[in-house]
Amino acid sequence: MTNTNPALNTPLALIAELTHRCPLHCVYCSNPLELQSRANELSTDTWSRVFREAAALGVLQIDFTGGEPLTRTDIIGLVKSARSAGLYVNLITSGLPLDEPKLDALIAAGLDHFQLSFQAAESQIATEISNTKSHAQKLRVLDWLKSRRVAVTLNFVIHRLNLHQLPEMLALAESSATRVEFAHVQYYGWAFANRERLLPTRAKLDESLEFFQKAQQRLEGKIRVEYVVPDYYGKYPKPCMGGWGRKLMLITPSGEALPCHAAKIIPGLQFDNVKDCSLAEIWSNSSAFQKFRGHSWMLEPCKSCDRRDLDFAGCRCQALLLAGDPAATDPVCSLSPQRPKVDAILAAIHSVAPTSPSSVVAQHAAPADRPSDAHSWLYRPNPA
Ligand code: SF4
Ligand code: SF4
Repeated sequence: MTNTNPALNTPLALIAELTHRCPLHCVYCSNPLELQSRANELSTDTWSRVFREAAALGVLQIDFTGGEPLTRTDIIGLVKSARSAGLYVNLITSGLPLDEPKLDALIAAGLDHFQLSFQAAESQIATEISNTKSHAQKLRVLDWLKSRRVAVTLNFVIHRLNLHQLPEMLALAESSATRVEFAHVQYYGWAFANRERLLPTRAKLDESLEFFQKAQQRLEGKIRVEYVVPDYYGKYPKPCMGGWGRKLMLITPSGEALPCHAAKIIPGLQFDNVKDCSLAEIWSNSSAFQKFRGHSWMLEPCKSCDRRDLDFAGCRCQALLLAGDPAATDPVCSLSPQRPKVDAILAAIHSVAPTSPSSVVAQHAAPADRPSDAHSWLYRPNPA
C-alpha cells in the first residue's frame, strides 16, 4: 500500500475488542449481532505487535474491551505488553470473572484505569437487563478498588428501566470513583432490536438532564460527572467517533480494523485485517477508513452546512439503520429530510409510555412508565 494521506492526523486511541465472549447478555450490548467465536480471536503475540504499532503510530491510549476482556486468560500479559509499548491502558469491564489476586496482578502489570460498568443501582433491574446475576460481584469489585492505586470510572448505561435510580447510582460513584459516566443507550445492534423498551420519554430525559447538571455543580472538583444523551432526542447529531477515521480505530477480536463499533453493518465496505497489514497502512489507506473522510462523500444538507466540521454529518450506521443510506444526513438531525422517521419512533414511544406525574429522580420505586407490552427482551448470547 502507498500512503495517499500524508497530512492525516494520527489516531488518539485504539479500541481493542479482545473477545466477544462475555458472561453477561445485556439487551443494549454494542457488539454486533454476528458475534465472533473464540477460535477466531487474535493471539497474544499478534495483539502485542498491534500495541507496538499503535504506539509507533502515535496512539496514546488503548481501551481493552469486548465482550468481556477478563475472559481472555492472557489478559495480564496483554496489559503488560501494552504498557511496555508505552500506551495508557484502560480496562472496560463488567468486573467478572475477577478476584482480588487477579486485580492486583492487573495493576502490577501496568493497568492505568479501571472502568467498571453497572446495569443498575440494584440487582433486580441489573439481572433483568443482563440476564445474569452479576450485581453483587460488581459491588465486591468496587470495594476492592477502594484500596488500590488505580484510576476508577463507573459506567452506567441508562434507559427507561433504570432512570429512576440515578441518585443511588451517583451515590455508588461518590463512594468509590474519581469519574462517573452516565450514557443513555444509543440504538445500534442489540439496543436497536430492544429499542421500544429502552427509549425514555422526553419528560424523563429532561428530568435526568436536570439531575446531571445539579450533580456536576455539587461535585465539581470532587468527581467528574459526564453524561451522554440519546441521539434521538438531539437537535443535531453527535460527532460519532469524533468523525469517521479521524481519531479512533477499533480492532475486532479476529483482527479487522473498523472506524466504529457498528461499521460492519454498512454494505460494500472492505475491512483490512491486522494479520495482513500494519496499523499505519490501514489508518492511511484502508478503503473503509477513506470512505467517509473529508466532505466529498456528503450529501445535502450536510455538504453546505456550517456544522459539517463539528458533527461530521453524524453517524453513518444510524443513517443506514434509519434512512437506508449510510451517506445520508444522520436522521436524528433536525435539518435532515428523514427526521420525521425519528419523530414517528418517539411518538410511538410516548403512546405506550405515558409520563409519570412525579419526579423519577426523586422516587426510588419502580417507574410508572415501564412498558406493559408482552414482547420479551432479545438478549445477546455468548459466542462459543
Ligand atoms: S453483554 Fe453487557 S457486559 Fe458484556 S460486552 Fe455486552 S454490554 Fe458489556
Ligand atoms: S445538516 Fe449535516 S452537518 Fe448540518 S447539522 Fe445536520 S448532520 Fe450536521
